[in-house]
Amino acid sequence: MSASSSLFQILFLGTGTSTGVPMIGCTCPVCRSSDPRNRRLRSSLYLRLGEVRVLIDTAPDLREQAMRHDIRRIDGVLFTHAHADHLFGFDDLRRFNTLQENRSIPAYGVPETLDEVRRIYRYLFGPRQAGLYRANIDLHPVEGLFRVGSLGGAPDADSPAILPVHVVHDDSRTVGFRIDFDGRAIGYAPDCVTLPEASIAQFRGVDVMILDALRYRPHLTHMHLEASLEAVERIHPASAYLTHIGHDIEHATLTRQLPPRVRLAYDGLTVDL
Ligand SMILES: [Zn+2]
Ligand SMILES: [Zn+2]
Ligand SMILES: [Zn+2]
Repeated sequence: MSASSSLFQILFLGTGTSTGVPMIGCTCPVCRSSDPRNRRLRSSLYLRLGEVRVLIDTAPDLREQAMRHDIRRIDGVLFTHAHADHLFGFDDLRRFNTLQENRSIPAYGVPETLDEVRRIYRYLFGPRQAGLYRANIDLHPVEGLFRVGSLGGAPDADSPAILPVHVVHDDSRTVGFRIDFDGRAIGYAPDCVTLPEASIAQFRGVDVMILDALRYRPHLTHMHLEASLEAVERIHPASAYLTHIGHDIEHATLTRQLPPRVRLAYDGLTVDL
């Protein structure tokens, strides 16, 4: 196996909740903090899997995130759900069409999510309009395990294997993803309030679990810290990172209190498996 195929790297493009941190107009200590780890763009992940580059969600901050990390390539996009904080950078994908010889980019999600994408961006999926700089994205509805290959080539048995995992969030259908590649695996569930037992079982055995942890107090659609730590216990990954974080959580303070193997993610963090 070539050296490049052993690459498995997670880059946290954003680790914030839907408002981002700081929030508009908030004067709390976290929103006013000078620690860069307390500045959180909307949640998104960029994965380097051998030759394949996968983006999870197109946050409204995608342009800023791509510039910050000099991202020039996307072989596939995964959508957890169609809430604004996970989708509204969609149009910035067109730059990647241009950078990648105008090839269309495949995007994957459950059918309900992709129906929402098609509804919200109707002008991109309707008849071609002259003069419109249009993202060229192929929507692939998925329900079970699938593989993502390099753009322009068909995936093979060594390509990253991706499993959508059902999570409970709000009344829109939402998934997390388990990604297996080259003998290693990660789980990503940025938006969930509970994980059904079957989903816990699907995440079990991952090397790295990345999970929603909005704040200290319970919330109706997101895991609070205690729920998140409890889910990590049940999944039992080698290590875990908490994400989709609100302004109640101060990075250095909580970092000192977390159990072994659990860390708070921050924007720009990379994890090599
Ligand atoms: Zn969200
Ligand atoms: Zn604040
Ligand atoms: Zn959401």
